[in-house]
Amino acid sequence: MSSNPKNYRMCVVCRKMHPKQDLYRICRDESNTPFVDYLFKVEGRGAYVCKNAECIATLGNKKKVSKSLGGTLPQELIDQMIKETGTI
Ligand SMILES: [Zn+2]
Repeated sequence: MSSNPKNYRMCVVCRKMHPKQDLYRICRDESNTPFVDYLFKVEGRGAYVCKNAECIATLGNKKKVSKSLGGTLPQELIDQMIKETGTI
């Protein structure tokens, strides 16, 4: 418990700890629109997800997950993230 480096965060889908750079951080802007916080600089609540298509795809259809995200994500955003994982 005490050995987790402080840059590790938990994926909301698989609940595993990963270094921040291996995760996407999803935030919401003032109008509650979800977006990806690529630089981890946005203040406020954020949810982390692994940069792999499996975890990202699950974001769109898990009730529990959308709860921690404050709502469901638009398919567009999910597709965008999956696309980007393919180019890493
Ligand atoms: Zn994951």
